[in-house]
Amino acid sequence: MAHFHPAQEIQNLQFFGEFGGVNPSIEDSSTYTFLQASRMSELFEKEIEGCYLYSRHMNPTNRYLAQALAAMEKTESALVTASGMGAITCTLLQLCGAGDEIVASRVIYGGTYAFLKNVAPRWGIKTTFIDFRDPELIENAITERTRVVYCEVMSNPLLELADLEKISSICRKHRVKLVVDNTFTPLMVSPSLWGADVVIHSLTKFINGTSDTVAGTICASHDFIHQLTDVNNGMLMLLGPVMDSLRSASVLKNLHSLSVRMMKHSANALHIAQRLSEAGMKVIYPGLESHPQHELAKKLFRPEYGFGGMVVLDVGTREKSFALMEEMQNQNIGYLAVSLGFYKTLFSSPGASTSSEIPEEERKAIGLTDGLIRMSIGLDHDPEHTFQKIRKCVERIGI
Ligand code: PLP
Repeated sequence: MAHFHPAQEIQNLQFFGEFGGVNPSIEDSSTYTFLQASRMSELFEKEIEGCYLYSRHMNPTNRYLAQALAAMEKTESALVTASGMGAITCTLLQLCGAGDEIVASRVIYGGTYAFLKNVAPRWGIKTTFIDFRDPELIENAITERTRVVYCEVMSNPLLELADLEKISSICRKHRVKLVVDNTFTPLMVSPSLWGADVVIHSLTKFINGTSDTVAGTICASHDFIHQLTDVNNGMLMLLGPVMDSLRSASVLKNLHSLSVRMMKHSANALHIAQRLSEAGMKVIYPGLESHPQHELAKKLFRPEYGFGGMVVLDVGTREKSFALMEEMQNQNIGYLAVSLGFYKTLFSSPGASTSSEIPEEERKAIGLTDGLIRMSIGLDHDPEHTFQKIRKCVERIGI
């Protein structure tokens, strides 16, 4: 593991354009011609190197991005999708059918939670939600019908960490697939090296980084990626959340600056989290010693990327959180907006937005209180200046 570095793997790739361009050409076609009709029917049976059939199945431009993401996640293969939710739902429906069960972390992105809680049961798939900070609970929840264990490396929004080493050994023991969402921690951690079978990202966030695109990826074995694109049974092929090639070309270009962006997001987030904590605010950040899983964070994360760009503040009540967010936007500290990984700081109240799908009593049980503000710290030049501005807003609101 010591010699593998995901940023180096991306850097090592060479994709040229049709005329020697330094960026690969964009394949602007939904369908492809064949010289022989027999070749077309062959392609319905099996993949043929360099041959394309139809862009919902595969597109050369999407393949470049997928290859870069597979190199980054050290998986055999990868696919790109029209959204992170497209990646999550296709993966879970490929792995599970009627009567199957999923053991999922109780703290996950609200959309994933809503899919597992409300939609997957319509396919006969049952999910047990567990506190993943205690791997023993995961093992106890696995039954002979369990096909998938699902979690986020760093959970949205509470920034709880999954001990991937322990969880993957439980999965291996019970022959269950471990599916991990690495959206909050790209480059910082390589879940496949800790034993994850499938690694998912919402590319919409840090990886693209410009808040202009919704996109996703599934990184996994050749075999699983083939299953997803199979013309008869593949969820990606048949449900159809395919990424547009113009978009995947732009995500690939942004991927090349991910490493420097992650370093700056993390350095700024650590500074702001430390200063807010010193100022007596209630702060959740895995880089703080007060975070209950700080030691696990040090074990999982590559040191040069620190502890990530997400910081959570608890200001006590929904009213105060709304007032502080509005004031921070008025002072141009950032934008009151969902999503993350942008150059500008973005903040939202998870209980009233991205986690509102989780019923109130469950939110209370997991500690997702109404006073929380989730902040995606931007690429600000001077984080001390940003902290001073936040401090003034906090004083003005009277928190
Ligand atoms: N996973 C996580 C952790 C997320 O935060 C989100 C979106 O907020 C998603 C998945 C869904 O991704 P998308 O919005 O690209 O569908």
